[in-house]
Amino acid sequence: MGSGTSMGVPTLGCPCRVCHSQDLRDNRTRPSVLLSRGERNVLIDTTPDFRQQALREKLQRLDAVVYTHSHADHILGFDDIRPFNMRQGSAMPVYGSTETLAALQRVFAYAFQPPAPGITIPQVELHTIDGPFDLLDTAWTPVWAEHGSMPVLGFRVGRLGYLTDFSRLPDASKPLLADLDELVLDALRDIPHPMHQTVQQALDLVAELRPKRAWFTHIAHDLPHEETNQRLARQGFSHVHLAYDGLRFEVGL
Ligand SMILES: [Zn+2]
Ligand SMILES: [Zn+2]
Ligand SMILES: [Zn+2]
Repeated sequence: MGSGTSMGVPTLGCPCRVCHSQDLRDNRTRPSVLLSRGERNVLIDTTPDFRQQALREKLQRLDAVVYTHSHADHILGFDDIRPFNMRQGSAMPVYGSTETLAALQRVFAYAFQPPAPGITIPQVELHTIDGPFDLLDTAWTPVWAEHGSMPVLGFRVGRLGYLTDFSRLPDASKPLLADLDELVLDALRDIPHPMHQTVQQALDLVAELRPKRAWFTHIAHDLPHEETNQRLARQGFSHVHLAYDGLRFEVGL
């Protein structure tokens, strides 16, 4: 759904060449993934761009939302689940850590109080993630990572690993990401950042976990799409690519 860093690419007011690129893959909305099986769809994170992403993908049904953490670029589209509440006539199952669900209840306090007559508010059914859970008739394994000093969740679903927003993967989480076909992981830019991996750190982790393919996400405007892919191939990582908005692939279970 989205592959960009918190400010998105183009970044507001920025004159740089990536922000002015003609390559649509350099146009990055905030980071999110949709997992679909049959008619059912589960979204990871409701970004500020969720509405535009859902319009672009012609999303007609949403069965659950799963959150990685509560930063603004991952939750601010929460209110846009309302049309799916109305269409489907039911509350939206929402999954997250204790901390993330508490943040949602604070930031979107109006959604957790009785609505005024005639007013629509998001209707949700909260599920605290404290171990593996089931969605789309498949087990979802939570994978803890460190986003600076903040704990965040990644997920393993079948042969897919999704791990946005992290700077370090604890050793205890690594076995959960062994033997993957597809690993989507944070690679912000080349310049070190206290809360995100650099390209080199992401490549080191790919070399360690050895997925069949890897996709970088949460990408800043420092990395031009085509040039960076060519550079990865030259470095011996032709199975590693920058993700881009609208990217689709099948995942084995
Ligand atoms: Zn983020
Ligand atoms: Zn820029
Ligand atoms: Zn974050």
